[in-house]
Amino acid sequence: MGTKINTRQRRVKSCPPRSQLLARITKAAADPGLAGAWALARFFPKQSVARNIALCRRAGLREPAFVLSFDCDTDADSAVVGSVHARLRSVGLSPLYAVAGEVLTAGAAAYREVAHDGAIFLNHGFRRHAALDATSGDVTSTYFYGATPTVEWQKDIRLGDEAIRDILGQQPNGFRTPHFASFEQPRELQTLWQYLKTLGYSYSSSTRPLFTLRHGPFFHRDGIAEFPVSGCLSQPGQIIDSWGIIRNGDGTPKRLIAELRAYLTVMEAGEPVFLNMYLDPADIADYEEVFSILASFAPYSAPDFATILARANHV
Ligand SMILES: [Zn+2]
Repeated sequence: MGTKINTRQRRVKSCPPRSQLLARITKAAADPGLAGAWALARFFPKQSVARNIALCRRAGLREPAFVLSFDCDTDADSAVVGSVHARLRSVGLSPLYAVAGEVLTAGAAAYREVAHDGAIFLNHGFRRHAALDATSGDVTSTYFYGATPTVEWQKDIRLGDEAIRDILGQQPNGFRTPHFASFEQPRELQTLWQYLKTLGYSYSSSTRPLFTLRHGPFFHRDGIAEFPVSGCLSQPGQIIDSWGIIRNGDGTPKRLIAELRAYLTVMEAGEPVFLNMYLDPADIADYEEVFSILASFAPYSAPDFATILARANHV
């Protein structure tokens, strides 16, 4: 699950309330580079895509590349993760999994099977950061690192690390912050990367597509390689995911499939674009057509971030 901005709500609010506007101005002032990337993505989407590809090339990528990850934030994700994984493995894909520690604990048997099949897990913190309404299926975001004292979110990361080691017998070396766009001020990210380094981590995929437009498909800070999740080619500032596009979109996979087709067209033309996409298992499990288009990305697929760095000659 990604940015917890409800796109449906955002669409109907043409004029944000004064407090929201102030918050945005404050955020832009704290990080003008992010505001600049937002303006580029918003007003010049075609130029943004061209810049994205140019930055991929500059980063050393010579061919299209694809990394698929799943955020597992609720027990509904745990219930389908085994079948989703098996279907994707059968078409040549090797997804990564970012599972909140409490969710991992509750669904240990399912995740162990996935791990035994060779899947790599990203530390996604320990505490649940989404509440599932069992009756309606609605998911509400909870627990934001940006609203949590440093000592506490660092403890959450430590506990998430221990959960993966204890339950799966894996030593994670990558991390994803709960909730995209909620913990990305320069000071927050610097503190995060520095802390991950002290734990011996090498990778983070915690930033949204605007960071790709600023710094490229990955960038090195404080000893960590950060991999922003990718944006839609039609709207480069919007994450290409199931949370925003299906769950908080029109409830169908139509647009997600169209956005994936757009990436495929660019990749089949040989452009070295990198698609770093995350999905929520429960949001796609029922859509055969999503599995079928994902299968088309198998020729470009990498099983982890280390492979992307190796392809770009960064290791
Ligand atoms: Zn999550």
